[in-house]
Amino acid sequence: MGFGRQDTAPAMELLHCVNGDRASKSNTPSVPSSPLTLIEKINQKIASGEKFFSLEFFPPRTPNGAVNLIAKFDRISVGCPLFCDVTWHPAGDPGGDKETSSMTIASAAVNYCGIDTMLHISCANTVKATVTKHLMKAKSLGIRNILALRGDPPNGEEWQALDDGLAYGTDMVRHIRQEFGDCFTVCVAGYPNGHPDCPTYEEDLQHLKEKVDAGADFIITQLFFENKTFFKFLQDCQNIGITIPIIPGIMPIQGYASLRHLVKLSRLEVPQWIVDAIEPIKDDDEAIRKYGVQLGIEMARELLAHDQVPGLHFYTLNREVATKEILTALGLWCQDPAASRPLPWKPSANKKRICEDVRPIFWASRPKSYLYRTSDWDEFPNGRWGNSSSPSFGELEDHHLFYLRSRSKKDDLLKMWGEELRNIEDVFEVFKCYISGEDNRYGVKVKSLPWNEDTVAPETALIKEKLEFLNSKGILTINSQPHVNAAPSSDPLVGWGGSGGYIYQKAYLEFFTCKEVVDALLKVLKEYPQVNYHVVNCEGSVNVTNADTFSPIAVTWGVFPGKEIAQPTVVDPISFESWKDEAFDLWQQKWGKLYPEDSPSKLVIDNICKNYYLVNLVDNDFVKGNCLWETLEKTVQLREKTLKSEPAEVIQ
Ligand SMILES: Cc1cc2nc3c(=O)[nH]c(=O)nc-3n(C[C@H](O)[C@H](O)[C@H](O)COP(=O)(O)OP(=O)(O)OC[C@H]3O[C@@H](n4cnc5c(N)ncnc54)[C@H](O)[C@@H]3O)c2cc1C
Repeated sequence: MGFGRQDTAPAMELLHCVNGDRASKSNTPSVPSSPLTLIEKINQKIASGEKFFSLEFFPPRTPNGAVNLIAKFDRISVGCPLFCDVTWHPAGDPGGDKETSSMTIASAAVNYCGIDTMLHISCANTVKATVTKHLMKAKSLGIRNILALRGDPPNGEEWQALDDGLAYGTDMVRHIRQEFGDCFTVCVAGYPNGHPDCPTYEEDLQHLKEKVDAGADFIITQLFFENKTFFKFLQDCQNIGITIPIIPGIMPIQGYASLRHLVKLSRLEVPQWIVDAIEPIKDDDEAIRKYGVQLGIEMARELLAHDQVPGLHFYTLNREVATKEILTALGLWCQDPAASRPLPWKPSANKKRICEDVRPIFWASRPKSYLYRTSDWDEFPNGRWGNSSSPSFGELEDHHLFYLRSRSKKDDLLKMWGEELRNIEDVFEVFKCYISGEDNRYGVKVKSLPWNEDTVAPETALIKEKLEFLNSKGILTINSQPHVNAAPSSDPLVGWGGSGGYIYQKAYLEFFTCKEVVDALLKVLKEYPQVNYHVVNCEGSVNVTNADTFSPIAVTWGVFPGKEIAQPTVVDPISFESWKDEAFDLWQQKWGKLYPEDSPSKLVIDNICKNYYLVNLVDNDFVKGNCLWETLEKTVQLREKTLKSEPAEVIQ
């Protein structure tokens, strides 16, 4: 379900999935055992005849725009682009550390969104040492693909190389190869209409050949409006001995103004037949967009039919909808959600993490935070958390603003989570409304919680009533997964790892609750020896578990043809303590902070932090089903009975 995965679907529903005919047609992914470079991936696709696509984005102007772009990367990654690229705009401090810099955006795409990413870097008006500095920084951030460009002088001035600069794209490629060897896959720009600064098309082609000879791995072309222009260019490149892959760049027409702007920038001419089609509908954005999509589909179909066209590159202008429509029509947009999941969690694209094959379940809804907090780890072996050495999670305070920045404004959050909290029941109500989707007392939908930035996932409908009940009783659920016994790996809800395998999961539930509920729960759990529990409080003075205090419990595993068993998700007692700090901190950082110090609302949140417990439960008997609901229902009954009669016991 939505708390990323509060999706504890009952056994019957999953059985239904098991029996359903949902075999994946995709041959896609298993986690690579060795890091393929981008050019190796491209060559592999060419060898197999499987066409691919890539998507270009530019860095937004504002930090909010950057946060939205990262969310967009998460959305588009399910379509399985081979790579994305981020443009370089010298005026915007592209190599800096701001949220909006090209460097930061590309790094976020690689490290946090798991997308192989290419960073454009230009050398115009830049001394060689600065270019080197940018390349070193890109390398240290895990970016391994560079589109090496000369770029343009500012304000349309005449091009002039600096004395200690790099004159042309060719010099840039040579420089990268000299200083960094094969560390980067290097792409260069090609111009099917010839570069506008070059006296002749033929001369420009020769300069492209020089870039290739200097060590470029592949070419992406400038946009063009007619395929015949590209096919001629492709043939001309081959005639002068260019043999590296050439990927045509396509820009879906999405609006009249943006088309005019782009044409001006690229100094291209729009063919008359396109002008004639667009002029009559120029004030109708939707009609132009539809026209652009249709034209894009036709162009793309013809390009892909050519055996020398390995894939397509899209200039998305940061609007992915039209591009997605075109790719869907072409059958290139990945349609099988399970196929886009090599693992139940999204792996990082940083080659440093290539061996990462297991993660704790706790960060299921906050994967970026997990990636950030483990970014200094040198290796990612199995059982990383199972030894007695410090798990070395990065400090909470070091969280990069960028990744913790709430996507919502303070006013919107207050409307969702309560402008005023009168008592603890008001908090229960917020959790309940989040699950049910009903309006809260301000008439507003609770679309997120501090631990769950997205709305509840559709499959949560299956267990909505159970969760609503628990939350209304002060069992504030933040994460869960259903039990699964041999669902096909192509299952749209729980599948991962490609087709032909079987998925297993133990039911898992995680929640905050008060001491009295925990006391009752510990009593009830005596009847359920198959359940492992772990209870901690904020300050760490309570740390009660019936599991081994060092060894992780596998809660998700997969069995695939011809492979060892994969067990990518664990409940790990050591990392639970790091997660505990983060989970409690979110009460204060995201919720408590909305209220003035010493206000009654703030005191309600403070009280939860101080007195509540964080609990996780694992039902080990995944074959029998999920006893966690029953356990908690009995706990609620016992708690209510105790309330009426006896004083509460003390947790030991
Ligand atoms: C796919 C793609 C992505 C782009 N991304 C960006 C971006 O992110 N940021 C940005 O600012 N711009 C970008 N551009 C635009 C690009 O920077 C401009 O087109 C720029 O004018 C040329 O860069 P280049 O690397 O292609 O230049 P070069 O290959 O260096 O060519 C520039 C001009 O010099 C000529 N030339 C090359 N070598 C010689 C030589 N030895 N002697 C004489 N003349 C020579 C060429 O014929 C050409 O006319 C992109 C273009 C494309 C096609």
